[in-house]
Amino acid sequence: MSNPSISNPTIEPPEIIIVDPDEETVACDGGGGALGHPLVYYSFGDQAAVDCGYCGRRFVRRGRGGA
Ligand SMILES: [Zn+2]
Repeated sequence: MSNPSISNPTIEPPEIIIVDPDEETVACDGGGGALGHPLVYYSFGDQAAVDCGYCGRRFVRRGRGGA
């Protein structure tokens, strides 16, 4: 039995942004448009990745010493 009235929300998977390993902070504004949000900054600290609390984007520092 399928329910024809069921909604099918499109939940986009979080975007992953790769940044230089030298970056200490990242800025995110959601990319503008419908997903836009106020510009916010996140510090990596000693983490390898941070998630934007607004849009769910994940910022990942590219590994040091890589090609
Ligand atoms: Zn964001």
